[in-house]
Amino acid sequence: MAYDDQNVFARILRGEISAAIVHEDEHCIAFRDVQPQAPVHVLVIPRAAIAKLGEVGPDAKELLGHLLWVAGEVARREGIGDAFRTVINHGTGAGQSVFHLHVHVLGGRPLAWPPG
Ligand code: AMP
Repeated sequence: MAYDDQNVFARILRGEISAAIVHEDEHCIAFRDVQPQAPVHVLVIPRAAIAKLGEVGPDAKELLGHLLWVAGEVARREGIGDAFRTVINHGTGAGQSVFHLHVHVLGGRPLAWPPG
């Protein structure tokens, strides 16, 4: 799908909307989810304009690895390093509502399996 640069995460990246940022580097930022589903709920997003996980090419492999590494770092720093979950929703049918790639990092409460 075409990337819509008016999506809310693109606007956060441009500084047009504020967010509670917990990590920033040259490739990504991480900030608290505005509607947290757990005591810790952080979103890690690339600076690059990528709408959905399943649409990236092989050139994004290093970036995808970096996002997961940052997710683990954030979990550790947030005090949930012993038990946390990462989630990437791809497509409306899987619950994706913002079409800028993001990794959810959730923890701080029991996390049931299988997920809904
Ligand atoms: P998804 O449903 O996987 O696309 O996740 C999108 C997430 O973005 C949801 O958990 C929303 O609560 C969150 N969200 C939407 N707008 C904002 C915002 N302005 N700041 C932080 N999180 C947001």
